[in-house]
Amino acid sequence: MQYDPLPEFRRCPVTGRWVIFAPERARRPITLQHTQAHQRDRPATDAVCPFCEGHEAEAPGEVYAIRAVGTAKDSPGWELRVVSNKFPALRPDMTATMPLLDPFFEARPGFGGHEVVIPCQSHETNPAKLTPAQYTNLLIAYRDRIRAISSDNLWHYVQVFQNVGAEAGASLAHLHAQIIALPLVPDAIQSELAFAKEYHGRHSACVYCELIAKERLARSRILRETEHFLAFCPFAPRFSYEFWVMPKYHASHFEITVDAALAELARLFLDLLAALDAVLAEPAYNAYLHTTPMKAKPNGHYHWHWEVIPRTARAAGFEWGSGCFLNAVPPEKAAAELRAKLSVVS
Ligand SMILES: [Zn+2]
Ligand SMILES: [Zn+2]
Ligand SMILES: [Zn+2]
Repeated sequence: MQYDPLPEFRRCPVTGRWVIFAPERARRPITLQHTQAHQRDRPATDAVCPFCEGHEAEAPGEVYAIRAVGTAKDSPGWELRVVSNKFPALRPDMTATMPLLDPFFEARPGFGGHEVVIPCQSHETNPAKLTPAQYTNLLIAYRDRIRAISSDNLWHYVQVFQNVGAEAGASLAHLHAQIIALPLVPDAIQSELAFAKEYHGRHSACVYCELIAKERLARSRILRETEHFLAFCPFAPRFSYEFWVMPKYHASHFEITVDAALAELARLFLDLLAALDAVLAEPAYNAYLHTTPMKAKPNGHYHWHWEVIPRTARAAGFEWGSGCFLNAVPPEKAAAELRAKLSVVS
């Protein structure tokens, strides 16, 4: 029997969980290989890197760029490029809506947008090695792409994320981040939104603002506080050395953040990632943004934040079976170790 290789969303009829079937992903070239468990990886081949400057033709066309005045699209002279993903998880050229054929076995076309953000022209593999200007550009690109994608009425959520190292899901060594535009609000965001809304209903306060106030009082899990941001290890992290970064002011949508605040956030991130590299000898990790769905108006209950999860251990039978994570390192200990490696701020 032949199956159609088009991407598709399917909802599990007993758990309500969405899964995306993404046949294109199987065709991705893998240029990273594992060298040592949980550490970052070295390129497995010397193949020409499609993300290096001068090789623009090897990646799909640019949808956004920060580049020198007078340079042409898809040519050298850029500082940052956003291109369509050559092996997309979802595709924008599919029907957005389709009549529900079977309300029990709910399936929808794999309609979506998948972009790659390349924040440096040279073959850098470590986010901590970006300059403050490059990291700021990366955050500006996330913001600008979320804004641009939001202007299209078809999308309900934009997931921004970065996979660093093969253990964390990266397949190309050249530093890059990804943006996936979704026609629905994913389960993780829905559950955080529901919890925050319920908390706001009971306490008339944002649970994240409350968390910030309590962490500042406790101090033991704080990594660094800057004028507008707080970085800390959460009270009950799933992963060892997991940390979160969020604005100290209440803000439901990341995409309203101004350039100056993004520059401050970039410097903070560079410091945190260098400390993470120092403590765990360059671990593989994922970093992702959680923000209010773009179509929702500003609200008082949800507060955008970044979560960074080092992949120091694999989720195993207990985690998959119970949904409860085992974590070997208390966040207070992780925070003390990371703090000791942060650069000294004058
Ligand atoms: Zn490269
Ligand atoms: Zn808040
Ligand atoms: Zn979150």
